[in-house]
Amino acid sequence: MRGTVVQSTGNFYDVLLADGSIIICRLKGKFRLDNKKQTNPIAVGDFVMVEEGPGETDEQKNYIINEILPRNNYIVRSDIHKSAYKHVIASNIDQTVVIASLKQPRTAFGFIDRVLITSEVYGIPAKVIFNKHDLYEEKDDELLQELMYSYNEAGYESFSTSVLNKENLEQLHQVFENKTSLIIGLSGVGKSSLVNSIFPHLNLKTGAISAYTEKGLHTTTFAHMYRINEHSFIIDTPGIKEFGLVDIDEYEVGHYFPEIRKEMNNCKFNNCLHINETGCAVKQLLEEGKFSPSRYTSYLTFYEEIKGAKKW
Ligand code: GDP
Ligand code: ZN
Repeated sequence: MRGTVVQSTGNFYDVLLADGSIIICRLKGKFRLDNKKQTNPIAVGDFVMVEEGPGETDEQKNYIINEILPRNNYIVRSDIHKSAYKHVIASNIDQTVVIASLKQPRTAFGFIDRVLITSEVYGIPAKVIFNKHDLYEEKDDELLQELMYSYNEAGYESFSTSVLNKENLEQLHQVFENKTSLIIGLSGVGKSSLVNSIFPHLNLKTGAISAYTEKGLHTTTFAHMYRINEHSFIIDTPGIKEFGLVDIDEYEVGHYFPEIRKEMNNCKFNNCLHINETGCAVKQLLEEGKFSPSRYTSYLTFYEEIKGAKKW
């Protein structure tokens, strides 16, 4: 039987079958030790083959995952404190959807950009939703317009929503239709409320982070895949507090900012880092107000962070 891993809880995996049912499986021993740098051998989203194990009764069937099918893609989060450890958050995804808010709590723009650069590194399209619009004051709204403009320009379609006022929720149906979407946001931005109000049958847990996720190692995020319909799935990642950068070199950072990537060939020096070189086309864009200062700040931050980490 072929299925998709929808949840992993250490030794057991929930596997979704084509008919919509979910079975609990174990992993065949040989898969366990494969890649020591990854904390998890199987990720949510993995396509697997399952067989019935020996000794089962009808009530208590024993299922074993005996094959992990090749991944189309995957996305990794590294532990900000122990960057050698990588956690595959999910695999076989069509898009990342970052959910953020400018109020209660305000999402750091750096967080949004960390998710975007990670998606970029793994070649996965991304979108941004700013929720809780009902709480924004005039100055927040101005900022929102600027942010949405610059994300759209960079190729990340962005939306503004309010679950409370049911604002712009309808158009999100088509965002999630016929796709497997990985949803990422800091807790409290309204991820679960938003998903539930678009797809009431999913019934994600809202409110405080459950004690269950708090118990995990801090490298671990218990992602969970939900089936919207036969062709549309959402992978929720509760309890994310921070997002480490993936393994890239500092001079590569610019390649993963679409705005920089588009412009970098016009820099005077082909190894331009867009910091203080003369003839830098990227800095020129910034001065002309055509490149978002907050995105540029993220670029500099990531550059320094990666460079700094190498000194240790
Ligand atoms: P999650 O941790 O990201 O899944 O966030 P939740 O969905 O649990 O929501 C956190 C809190 O924000 C809850 O009290 C929600 O009722 C509230 N909330 C969610 N969306 C909105 C919104 O659009 N506006 C306002 N004012 N509150 C919201
Ligand atoms: Zn440059």
